[in-house]
Amino acid sequence: MIISDVTALLEQLAPLSYQESYDNSGLLVGDPSIPLKGILATLDVTPEVVEEAHQKGLNIIVSHHPLIFNGLKKIVGKTYVEKAVVLAIKYDIAIYAAHTNLDNIKGGVNSKIGELLGLNNLNFLSPIEGELVKVIAFVPSNMAEKVRQAMFDAGAGSIGNYDCCSYNIEGKGTFRASEGTNPYVGNIGELHFEPETRIEVIVQKARLSKVIREMILAHPYEEVAYDIYPLLNTNNGAGAGMVGELESPISELDFLKIVKKVFNLQSIRHTSLLGKEIKKIAFCGGSGAFLIKQAIAVGADIFITGDVKYHQFFDAENRIIIADIGHFESEQFTVDIFYEYLLKNFPKFAVLKSEIKTNPINYI
Ligand SMILES: [Zn+2]
Repeated sequence: MIISDVTALLEQLAPLSYQESYDNSGLLVGDPSIPLKGILATLDVTPEVVEEAHQKGLNIIVSHHPLIFNGLKKIVGKTYVEKAVVLAIKYDIAIYAAHTNLDNIKGGVNSKIGELLGLNNLNFLSPIEGELVKVIAFVPSNMAEKVRQAMFDAGAGSIGNYDCCSYNIEGKGTFRASEGTNPYVGNIGELHFEPETRIEVIVQKARLSKVIREMILAHPYEEVAYDIYPLLNTNNGAGAGMVGELESPISELDFLKIVKKVFNLQSIRHTSLLGKEIKKIAFCGGSGAFLIKQAIAVGADIFITGDVKYHQFFDAENRIIIADIGHFESEQFTVDIFYEYLLKNFPKFAVLKSEIKTNPINYI
């Protein structure tokens, strides 16, 4: 196992194409070809976290927040970012980040929050647009099942909570093989009619190259006929923030007490209570104030996030409760996503959670 085995696996969980345009997820420091010793999962990378990885004999740090976000013109150890980079290079430790791409997927940061709050009917608050394509493959009918399954296995055909979705039409394909070819059926120089199935599936762009590769591998033809169409559909399987529902409504105060307990909070900054029961909850781990309008639009009773500015609280306008629980606090369980996923996939390697408290904010 080498470092790139870890990064490739993380990108199966959270494809890099799902990160926001301003983000810098991916391998940030280190040689992807060095043998893996062990993995340290953390929310943030600081020089102390790099020291911790070194002390524990681990050589890749997997973090949620990218250590390097803006360009570095010098790396001389002046800032905490430079110090951490210098140390990581000195100790031959790789640093990897899965940031907004982990926010935007099922099973990511917000799924975890929804799970902790015990919510049902989870959906993305702002689904990703322009991220779906339609793939149509023309397959000899006797091979349709094999090719269709290969496409499903590569991630094609997911719509909402359903997988293996496809549409199939029987028809007839024609072709004429020229000299030098080796046709699966038919004779060279003769027009051939073959019963074929037209298989249509929806594919997320992030999975497209794999789906096409696996489809061609499973397909018996030398030259495979297929089409790829861009779609205007939103991808409801990925996006920013989430909304979900409690089993039964509870009072605003009771709900805020649950939030306080689940996230182990000293305090919550929130707008006026509205005297209504809470049932529908919108939330976004980290800095989610950009989703306040969407939270109101879906009719959520409360929106939970971090980093809400003074003037953004005014946007509640008695239509919703905005509750700021803190950036770190809202994302503190993200480390468990890395930990559980990596532990399951690298059972023979040390996978540890950082013991360093990286939250720079203190309360008195
Ligand atoms: Zn964050």
